[in-house]
Amino acid sequence: MLTRDDGSMASSTYHFPFDGLGTSFRCSACGEYHTVHLRYVDCSSDCLQSLPRQVALCVRDRELVLLADTRTYDIVGREAIRALDGGGYKTHCVILPDPSPGGSPVCDDQTLAWIKGQVLKCPFVLAAGSGVLNDLAKWLALDWNVPYGVVATAPSMNGYASDNIAPTVKGVKTLITGRGPLFVLARPKDLANAPAPMIAAGLGDFIAKSVSALDWRMNHIVFNEFYCAYCVELIQHVEDRLLAHPEMLKQREVSAVRMLFEGLLLAGIGMSMAGTSAPASGGEHLISHTLDMKALADGRPHDLHGRQVGVGTIVAAVLYDQVFSEGTPWPDPCGTIPAFSPIYWGTLAEAVRPYAEKKRRKAERAVARLTEGRERRQNLRDTLTPLRRDPYAIKAVLKDAGAAHTLDDIGVDHEAFNAVLLHAHEIRERFTIIDLAWLTGVGVNPAVINAWLRSEMP
Ligand SMILES: [Zn+2]
Ligand SMILES: [Zn+2]
Repeated sequence: MLTRDDGSMASSTYHFPFDGLGTSFRCSACGEYHTVHLRYVDCSSDCLQSLPRQVALCVRDRELVLLADTRTYDIVGREAIRALDGGGYKTHCVILPDPSPGGSPVCDDQTLAWIKGQVLKCPFVLAAGSGVLNDLAKWLALDWNVPYGVVATAPSMNGYASDNIAPTVKGVKTLITGRGPLFVLARPKDLANAPAPMIAAGLGDFIAKSVSALDWRMNHIVFNEFYCAYCVELIQHVEDRLLAHPEMLKQREVSAVRMLFEGLLLAGIGMSMAGTSAPASGGEHLISHTLDMKALADGRPHDLHGRQVGVGTIVAAVLYDQVFSEGTPWPDPCGTIPAFSPIYWGTLAEAVRPYAEKKRRKAERAVARLTEGRERRQNLRDTLTPLRRDPYAIKAVLKDAGAAHTLDDIGVDHEAFNAVLLHAHEIRERFTIIDLAWLTGVGVNPAVINAWLRSEMP
């Protein structure tokens, strides 16, 4: 493959490492039909040239809305509009202001309402940016029932190609199912020039799959929920290569940053094909979402999603290690999940309560299914024990990549984090290793977790 001096490559020679874009096929792993809505990916230096053509392949009308913030407008928004102008497009540009000095836009119901107040419905939405802008564009496109595309600026999260939107609605992190973009364009130099914490955040979101995929498998075994090994294994080759050299991300090596971005797209494609975020979002995500919700309720800033998820991934790996280690007394479920605490949730209590109630019922079902015979417990143990990931290795990769791996890194004190460990499971029905740790009597021991989240390696 032809590469240029800076490690980027021309559009004509770029090849995305997945041949199923824009296809529907019967999956040999799960027997179901999978549809990949994402039709086109171009991570080459001249990818913006293809923007008018890509929009034309999505809609007939030559009018669209571009969503950007003040930073992403400068990085790529202005040039995207110029490219669209050249293709005869009328672009309505909506630039989201920062909600406070030093802050950045958030994806919530108020911001969506603000955008809809700025512009009339258009036949196409284009996101210029990363996590928040991509989610807002996906949400707006869902609301308008129109397609959307992305010009990405940072490899910071795995939601680009997924159907999921993770907005905050009335203070609670919720999950809305939309429809992923039809194309994703990203210039390698923009990705590599993204702020270092955003690149590191992307790795944190990417590495989550090493535990979230186990949570998904666990739900399959315990509740007979749908599971597809192909959707999980899609990112394996990228994972092996990236995790072998995490320091290349710290050095902003263009090829490594692009590979991370491609891995994040593949993780999103996996979620989209599976029809659930489960392949890439488990207990580690509940920890991050809880940190976000508590910070928003208190009017405090919180760290980037992927940085918190990376820390949550260490926690989940430790719990898997404890629950499935040799000599753990279960498989007799002998514990309970902690009781819902209105005091902890404060102003969010009534919003969280229905989810906590669903989780309580799910935990009861888990106990019933795990105790109705020995076979299921043994299957769970036999299947997941060899798939556990070494928490030490996960922490080392995050550290070597310059990503967050301690509580200090994400600006959370021990006391606050211990409370998160007690209550994170309450925000979603989805059953995770956190719930299993409680139910098996292993519990979530703050002293053990805290020891893993110090700066020195354990
Ligand atoms: Zn499948
Ligand atoms: Zn995530």
